[in-house]
Amino acid sequence: MPGAASSPSVGAESNPFLQMQARFAKAADLLGLDQGFQRILARPAHELTVAIPVQMDDGSLRVFTGYRVQHSIARGPAKGGIRFAPDVHLDEVRALAAWMTWKCAVVNVPFGGGKGGVICDPRRLSQGELERLTRRYAANLLEIIGPERDVPAPDMNTNEQVMAWFMDTYSMHRRMTQTAIVTGKPIGLGGSQGRRIATGLGVALATREALTYVGHQGPARIVVQGSGNVGGLGALLLHDRFGHKVVAISDIYGGIHNEKGLDMPQVLDWLAEKRSLEGFPDADRVSNEELLELPCDVLVPAATENQITSQNAARIQARVIVEGANGPTSAEADRILEEKGVFVVPDILANAGGVTVSYFEWVQDRMGYFWEEEDVCERLERIMVKAFRDVVEAAERYATSPRIGAYCVAVDRVAYCLRLRGIYA
Ligand code: NAD
Repeated sequence: MPGAASSPSVGAESNPFLQMQARFAKAADLLGLDQGFQRILARPAHELTVAIPVQMDDGSLRVFTGYRVQHSIARGPAKGGIRFAPDVHLDEVRALAAWMTWKCAVVNVPFGGGKGGVICDPRRLSQGELERLTRRYAANLLEIIGPERDVPAPDMNTNEQVMAWFMDTYSMHRRMTQTAIVTGKPIGLGGSQGRRIATGLGVALATREALTYVGHQGPARIVVQGSGNVGGLGALLLHDRFGHKVVAISDIYGGIHNEKGLDMPQVLDWLAEKRSLEGFPDADRVSNEELLELPCDVLVPAATENQITSQNAARIQARVIVEGANGPTSAEADRILEEKGVFVVPDILANAGGVTVSYFEWVQDRMGYFWEEEDVCERLERIMVKAFRDVVEAAERYATSPRIGAYCVAVDRVAYCLRLRGIYA
C-alpha cells in the first residue's frame, strides 16, 4: 500500500494507520476507485512535527514533541481533535486524521480530516505548565490552522479549557477574536449547546438504530469500556434517555459489573468525586480485558484504540458492537466478528456525533447566532439516522460489513470532490 509508514515499535495489528489503510483499500477496491486516487487518499496530504519548549514550574526547560496531520482537505477545512498523551505517535495521529476525513464524509459535513497530538503526560503537568504547552503548540501551528484551513477540537486529555487557551493564542496573533478556530469551547466563548454530550448522544442513537436493524426488542444489556466524555456520557444517556441497562463500565484502572444494571448517575457522581471506579458499592470488580468478554447485547468500546484484536475477538459475546472510541477493533478482529455474526457499528459512524455538533459550533460561530440545545440535538439525530441508513444501504449494495460499507460511503464522497476539483499541476 502506498504511503504506509509503519512505526518500528508497533506491529501491524496494533498500528492504527496500517489498520486504516487496510479498510480503505478494501472499500476502494469495491468502489473500483482509480489507482491514482487511491494513492492520494491512502496517505496524509500534510504533516507537521513541532518542538514545543516549555518553562516548567521548577525553572527547568523541557521540549515536548507535537504533531498536526491533515489527511485531506478535499471536502473543506481539516477538522479533528488534539490528543495529549505519553504514548502518542505519528502513525496514530495519521490514522486519526484519516478517520476524521472518512467520518466527516459519512455524516456529510463539509470538512476534511486532521488530528493533532502532543507527547506528554498531562497528569504530571501543573495547570500553568499545561497552559504554556498548549499556547506554544498553538503558536507553532499558526501557519497551517485557521477557521477556513484547519479547525482543532478536544480529544483524549484535552478539554474546553485547553480549547479556550488555544483560541486565545490564535486570536492574539490575529489581533481579533476568532472563535471558529477551534470547537469544543466553553459555551460562553462561542461553544455550542449540546457539544458536551454530542458524541455520547450519537453513540446512543447509533445503538438504537443498530438494535432496531438486528431486530432486538426492549431494553438491552450494555457493557461500556471507558467512562470519559464518550463512554461515561454515552452510558448515562443509554441508561437515562433510552432505558437500557448498563451492566458494566470501566476506566483505565479496571471495571465494575452488576448483572442487574448499574445506577449510572450514581456511578458518574462516584467517579467525579473519587476519580476512579474502584470501591463502587454493589458491583463486582473486573479487569478491562474481562469486561470486553462479558455476556451482553451491546458492547461499547469507548476508551482507546486496539482493544478488540485477533487475541480476544472470538471470545466477545455481544451481538452488537458500537464503537465509541476511534479504532478500537483491528482489521483481523473484524473478520472474526463478521464470521460470528456480530453487527459492528464502525467508529467513523458511531462516534460521529462529536464532529457533527463541532460543525454546528463552527457554523454558529461564523453566523454569530446560537441555537437552543433542543435544535442541536434534533439536527444531530436527523444526521445520525441518515448516516446509519446510508451505511447499511452501502453494506447491502456491496455485500460487505457495515464498516466497509461506511468506508465506501465516505471514500466515494471524497473521491467525488477530488474528481470535480481535478489535480492541480
Ligand atoms: P476521555 O479521556 O474523556 O475518556 C477516556 C476513558 O477511557 C477514561 O475513562 C479512561 O480512564 C479510559 N481509558 C483510557 N485509556 C485506557 C486504556 N488503555 N484502557 C482502558 N481504558 C482506558 O476520552 P474521550 O473523549 O471519552 O475519548 C475516548 C475515545 O473516543 C477516544 O478513542 C477518542 O478518540 C474517541 N472520540 C472522542 C470524541 C469526543 O467528542 N470526546 C469524539 C469521537 C471519538
